Amino acid sequence: MFEYDEGLLNELREIYNDSISDVLESLTRPPPRYYVRVNVLRVSPDVVLDMLRGEGYSVYRDEYLSEALWFPVEGPNGLPEDVDCRVFVDKRTAESILLGANLYAPGVVEAEPCARQRGREVQIVFSGTELPVAVGVVEDPTSLERGRGLYARIVVSRFRAPSLRDTRYYREGLIYEQSWSSMLVTHVLDPRPGEVVIDMCAAPGGKTSHIYEYSGGRARILAYDHSRTKIEKMRSELNRLGHKDIVVERLDSRNLDMVLGRNVADKILLDPPCSSLGVRPKVYDHKTYKMVQDVARYQRQFIRTAWNLLKPCGVLVYSTCTLTIAENEENIRYATKLGFIVGQLAMPRTSQGLVQGTLRVHPHIHETTGYYIALLYKPCSKS
Ligand code: SAH
Repeated sequence: MFEYDEGLLNELREIYNDSISDVLESLTRPPPRYYVRVNVLRVSPDVVLDMLRGEGYSVYRDEYLSEALWFPVEGPNGLPEDVDCRVFVDKRTAESILLGANLYAPGVVEAEPCARQRGREVQIVFSGTELPVAVGVVEDPTSLERGRGLYARIVVSRFRAPSLRDTRYYREGLIYEQSWSSMLVTHVLDPRPGEVVIDMCAAPGGKTSHIYEYSGGRARILAYDHSRTKIEKMRSELNRLGHKDIVVERLDSRNLDMVLGRNVADKILLDPPCSSLGVRPKVYDHKTYKMVQDVARYQRQFIRTAWNLLKPCGVLVYSTCTLTIAENEENIRYATKLGFIVGQLAMPRTSQGLVQGTLRVHPHIHETTGYYIALLYKPCSKS
């Protein structure tokens, strides 16, 4: 399931000691709660809660984050063993089918000849390891030739979370699917009306849209990402949610200070690309310590730029969905060398990181996506 080299495992042992097998095991499962955020600019969480319950959903409000609702995830379920016709899917697809999503043609890597028959029961396996994730029924075999459309409907999956994409709540922009840990990041940032907030690695916009909602639509948000396709996805998501007046541009944020100038932002969110070890469920993962060090070095370039962009007294929130020290605490130590001061955070359902005041959300203890969050201040007097 996990191909992590010795260097990476040693790094993880420094944090988790003997619990490392529990950590890795937790990553093979989805968190037991499936979270959505209510778009509080459109509707109150209680109204959505009542409507969903009225339609028969088991759904609850989070104990800490007022905009968060959660649905219990079912499973693990056993899969019927007598289905011998197989369909092979890619990693991303396997990870969403593990949770009960239907199978669309682009995710199919290979289908056995028997699986080209409408109504046929098929076993869906991850192509890399042949791990079975679900059993489904072929709906439209011609979708494979076209390379698009629904191919099979899932009947039993290892786990099951409600699929909300087909509901009006989703279509009308009343909800956004987002992990609890990811929502926590905006609470740490605490964006206020009138503040200039830069989101340096913004797409697909989960946190950008949350920042907008949290500030009552009144923070001045500038959001950047260098991926064209992800920027497009982000624009359509912001559109779905009805969020206007957010500046969204495609740029390499490492050079953002040259574009916007220095001392322009009150607050910055830096949620850079990372090794994503905390993301779950995983059907497979391959990473080396070298890869982690490379991405950590890449992340530091954004931290340098953030320093220049921030006004004196400005705030930087640094977050990743990964577990390594190199991408988290070591980068915060690097930030302090630039002059940043580490803010002291204490939040529910989190632990302290190795740098005091920073937060770790542990996948095996807090039962959500593994995360790291740090709050940094640029000193008020110019040094
Ligand atoms: N904050 C987002 C997730 C960001 S994932 C959310 O909450 O929804 C990291 C993002 O960094 C990716 O979208 C990737 O395209 C972007 N990225 C990577 N290198 C970049 C660069 N040099 N400049 C700007 N964005 C970059």
